[in-house]
Amino acid sequence: MAAARTLLCLGECMVELSDAGDGTYRRGFAGDTFNAAWYARRALGDGWRVAYGSCLGEDAISDEMAGFIAGEGIAADTLRRVSGRTVGLYMISLTHGERAFSYWRGNSAARLLAQDADWLAGVLNGAAHVHLSGITCAILPPAGRDTLRAALARARAAGTTVSFDTNLRPALWEDRATMQREVMATAAVSDILLPSFDEETALFGDATPADTIARYRAQGARQVVVKNGGGPVVLWSQGAEPVSLPVAPVARVVDTTAAGDSFAGTFLAATLDGAAPDEAVRSAARCAAEVIQVRGALMR
Ligand code: ADP
Repeated sequence: MAAARTLLCLGECMVELSDAGDGTYRRGFAGDTFNAAWYARRALGDGWRVAYGSCLGEDAISDEMAGFIAGEGIAADTLRRVSGRTVGLYMISLTHGERAFSYWRGNSAARLLAQDADWLAGVLNGAAHVHLSGITCAILPPAGRDTLRAALARARAAGTTVSFDTNLRPALWEDRATMQREVMATAAVSDILLPSFDEETALFGDATPADTIARYRAQGARQVVVKNGGGPVVLWSQGAEPVSLPVAPVARVVDTTAAGDSFAGTFLAATLDGAAPDEAVRSAARCAAEVIQVRGALMR
């Protein structure tokens, strides 16, 4: 049997504490690129190894997170342990049914993802595909972003393909100009772009999804998939005209957490499995539609 090929997702997985409504909090683990890895794992067959690349601490909660990741069938030997640090945490509080998020991630181990360039190169080495997000970049110090891009560029030269979910989160960046510059620079070392139109219009000023496609295409992208909530997904693949693909309406949206992450993981799984781009979008949208009808990031 041929060796399994690797999909490597890079970023930060956090502890999630969610208000159970009875004075207790339920603990989980989630984070955008981890959620994408989880949905990709669900959709991919045995011919694929899905791995998560990140840094954790050496404490008990870091051990539990590593155990959770491995227990979900996601390779955890691509996690680097850093002494003196721990994992990030976020809490979902409920006030009169409204969800509010608080984060403690300022000093999380994942911020050191690109600190050790040799380790990073080793993790990327041989991966068929690498997936990262704007959050992966935002949490790194400026030099780490350059190190990450250099590692991605070398991996691509060796045949790895790269996807980038821009996940624009202004609060995580120094300022908007830095966010724009860094996102565009990372797009330039990516093959597949997975932006969400509501964020791109608000933060880059795109008037239409066609503008979003044109902007990332100019950076050298081979494929741009513009998500737009309940609106059509606009898909552009190199050598083809953009197509607008309607998504099935969802009558009752319960929780949009991980809509984009599940879309990304399922889209990548289908693409890596050889599906045509429009088919990959359809299966991604089907999965995301289910995800938004249940609470929480991971749909069990
Ligand atoms: P993100 O979560 O990254 O901001 P979107 O909100 O655009 O991304 O949603 C990602 C995908 O989830 C959409 O392309 C669509 O397939 C699905 N989705 C999100 N909101 C809805 C909705 N209201 N109705 C149907 N599908 C939706």
